[in-house]
Amino acid sequence: MRLLLVEDHVALADELCAGLQQLGYAVDWLTDGRDAAYQGVVESYDLIILDLGLPGLPGLQVLAQWRAAAITTPVLILTARSAWSERIDGLKAGADDYLTKPFHQEELYLRVQALLRRSHGFANQSHLNAAGLRLDESQQSVYSQGQEIELTGAEFRLLRYFMLHAGQVLSKSHLAEHLYDGETERDSNVLEVHVNHLRRKLGRTVIETRRGQGYRFAGCDLAP
Ligand code: CA
Repeated sequence: MRLLLVEDHVALADELCAGLQQLGYAVDWLTDGRDAAYQGVVESYDLIILDLGLPGLPGLQVLAQWRAAAITTPVLILTARSAWSERIDGLKAGADDYLTKPFHQEELYLRVQALLRRSHGFANQSHLNAAGLRLDESQQSVYSQGQEIELTGAEFRLLRYFMLHAGQVLSKSHLAEHLYDGETERDSNVLEVHVNHLRRKLGRTVIETRRGQGYRFAGCDLAP
């Protein structure tokens, strides 16, 4: 999953970037509202964390521009504790959730996780269940019939994306766009290697290859 963090408080942004990356999210970071308004439209993100007090263009206007451009990406806004009217305005402008500063980072991470699941139709689940697999995002591990299967960080990130998009055909370029941040070189051969590793661990048919189209996460064929 690829996230955009728009936050001009550098120390806070540094901490959040590091924390989010540890949770297996690819993160792009911007400090300026004008840059954010543009990049949120031209790049595809799975979720955006938006501070409202920004140089260049206020966060509320950035959000309004995205929504006017039919960008439906979930947006979590960060607001000052005193500014209750900002929260209302943010929700009216199309924010999906908000957090008031100062906040505990753990709460932000849990809200991000919940928003991402909800936006893919997985409501009220403490774990991600799809096609016979149970993914524990806090442990970055997967279970099949109660058996834990160990994953590398890259395999976890890929499997989480597949599970959130079960049944959909995903092209390699789409996957690369959503698994790597804007700074990372996107190599579809590396992606192929990770897909093959997942197949070895979870069963050959768990990820189908659609020739000329990409991959489709189908389900788990591990026999009991
Ligand atoms: Ca700010």
